[in-house]
Amino acid sequence: MTQEKRVALVTGGNRGIGYELVKQLAVEGFQVILTSRDVAKGQEAAQKLKESGLEVEVVGMDVNDPESIRQAVRTVEERFGRVDVLINNAGVYLDEQETLLTMEPALVERTMATNFFGPYHVLRSVVPLMEKHGYGRVINISSEWGSMREMSERGAGAYKVSKLALNGLTQLAAAEVRGDIKINAVDPGWVRTEMGGPSAPRMPKEAAESILWLVTIGPEGPNGGFFRDGERIEW
Ligand code: NDP
Repeated sequence: MTQEKRVALVTGGNRGIGYELVKQLAVEGFQVILTSRDVAKGQEAAQKLKESGLEVEVVGMDVNDPESIRQAVRTVEERFGRVDVLINNAGVYLDEQETLLTMEPALVERTMATNFFGPYHVLRSVVPLMEKHGYGRVINISSEWGSMREMSERGAGAYKVSKLALNGLTQLAAAEVRGDIKINAVDPGWVRTEMGGPSAPRMPKEAAESILWLVTIGPEGPNGGFFRDGERIEW
């Protein structure tokens, strides 16, 4: 690797855990691409970071739209030539009070579109670029609710199956990639964001700290694993 800054791309980087990941990666000296489905919101977040002396690049990316993903990755390739780190963070949780067989099917489809097909299309666009350079670290922000044992508990079915599918994607993609590319999934814990709500015990800063070790693992590091706070957890 050259002396150039490593390039890290975060989806849904304008708020919540994604924003904190962007911030910490910038502090660590990465060239960070903050992606947001709403560029204005992304720029607002970047301005906030600028006030603390951190420069990040903003690129629009709606993970529900494969063309928007391809365009964003093309833009990043043109400007920076590479993506060394990808964090699939953007996600939605739409079915708190619902059950899978009775909820509006559109809720299941929208949840799958963002939480599964989003990371799937982002991976399809970014992995070839990583393989070209022989290096990449991918973190899929999943949830313990996507683990198999959660499927026997009623409730939040759309969210749970979307994260279960993301976990499957993590393992399959990890087995398929060539070169020094590591693809892992993490559970960030219950985090105080718009999604996690005001009662969540963990702050985004701590959640991001518990995730970012996976960015700097070496060639012998884990690939295709599921982690919380640095420990392996059950699929
Ligand atoms: P927030 O609701 O606070 O933030 C979600 C982010 O995802 C926002 O930036 C949002 O953008 C973005 N997003 C949603 N849909 C899209 C889309 N179609 N395209 C691009 N960006 C999109 O959630 P958190 O920060 O809490 O969650 C981040 C990740 O962590 C998610 O994957 C979530 O499932 C996971 N997680 C969170 C937990 C928690 O307790 N908070 C627990 C376990 C996992 P916009 O501002 O435009 O809406």
